[in-house]
Amino acid sequence: MRAFEYTPAADVAAALAAIGPGALPLGSSHSARFIAGGTNLIDLMKEDVMQPARLVDITRLPLTAIEETPEGGLLLGALARNADTAKHPLVRERYPLLSAAMLAAASPQLRNMATNGGNLLQRTRCYYFYDAGVPCNKRAPGSGCPAKAGLARQLAILGTSESCIATHPSDMCVALAALDATVHVQSARGARAIPFADFHRLPGDEPQRDSTLEADELITHIELPARGYAQHSTYLKIRERASYAFALVSVAAAFELDEAGRMRHARLALGGVAHKPWRDLEAESLLEGQAPETQIFERAADALLAPARAWGSENGPGYNGFKIPLARRAIVRALEMARAGELTNTGELAADIFQEQRA
Ligand SMILES: Cc1cc2nc3c(=O)[nH]c(=O)nc-3n(C[C@H](O)[C@H](O)[C@H](O)COP(=O)(O)OP(=O)(O)OC[C@H]3O[C@@H](n4cnc5c(N)ncnc54)[C@H](O)[C@@H]3O)c2cc1C
Ligand code: SF4
Repeated sequence: MRAFEYTPAADVAAALAAIGPGALPLGSSHSARFIAGGTNLIDLMKEDVMQPARLVDITRLPLTAIEETPEGGLLLGALARNADTAKHPLVRERYPLLSAAMLAAASPQLRNMATNGGNLLQRTRCYYFYDAGVPCNKRAPGSGCPAKAGLARQLAILGTSESCIATHPSDMCVALAALDATVHVQSARGARAIPFADFHRLPGDEPQRDSTLEADELITHIELPARGYAQHSTYLKIRERASYAFALVSVAAAFELDEAGRMRHARLALGGVAHKPWRDLEAESLLEGQAPETQIFERAADALLAPARAWGSENGPGYNGFKIPLARRAIVRALEMARAGELTNTGELAADIFQEQRA
């Protein structure tokens, strides 16, 4: 690992002063960086994918609380650990979709270290991005994208560009997209609130930039609106193996039922298929006002996947064409599970098991 400066910060003002106004854009590997749980950043430094000149340790900042908002929502501190957030009684009761998605991610040990803010900014798991010896437009802009005709099995089918076909790997973010969260950030220039749909980016011709956050901005909170879909929501995660693995495809599906039994405020977000959590308002509008019937779910899935495109060496082991029918079936199944009030397919929500792992 290369040498770097290390600055622990005791409060937000100290963290913002330490990151400095001259931080390089977030797409750059060499700028100063905040470090929270370190479960992604330290890996990337060990692999020489990122070489920050300075780490500003934010783990001591007083941003760990989970509090109710006057509007009836919740404010999740950016430094709250993923495990503590997922098991928090208010999160479990009002936003079981978020709890299920977070518990479907990684392992208990990782969830005990990983923070909410860090989860939003974890970087892609594209094999080429992690291999500093090969070209990759996200790691080294302008060097090329070997994944397009290579190992694209884990990679995107929606919103891709000729520059990059990487996926965003987070489970938590898929639930946050469906729940219409807001990301609160602060810098020396002031505070701003970013709607979740605008937080992550599609690759376009700047794949090195994963989000719309500026390098000197600190995530302080994630806000959940009052509507939590506690009755009808599901997080369905399809992965290569039963133990911890990133999603090939995941679906957050949620709706409320009106007095006539029709869907209102329908939500559909996908993970593992795009450079950002993929939410499609048009597909959601096909669900709204309709009875929750499988035929209607199929129509929404078809609309959502109409622009899908496969990548990789065709019919080779890296080809990701299988993801299109897989995503279609996953969408329909997730909506059927939401209709039945089944929360997840991963079976990891048992509070007792969680408590044992924590002890
Ligand atoms: C083996 C393994 C398996 C995993 N499996 C999954 C999985 O199945 N699903 C899943 O979703 N995730 C998975 N993860 C990823 C894990 O969830 C992330 O590594 C973790 O959430 C990152 O949080 P952190 O606090 O450790 O971030 P860090 O590594 O500390 O930081 C990550 C990035 O966020 C920035 N950052 C952190 N906090 C802030 C802040 N408050 N403001 C501004 N910038 C900030 C840092 O500068 C850095 O760029 C896995 C990780 C590993 C190692
Ligand atoms: S898909 Fe993106 S991250 Fe992967 S090799 Fe291509 S440019 Fe790099």
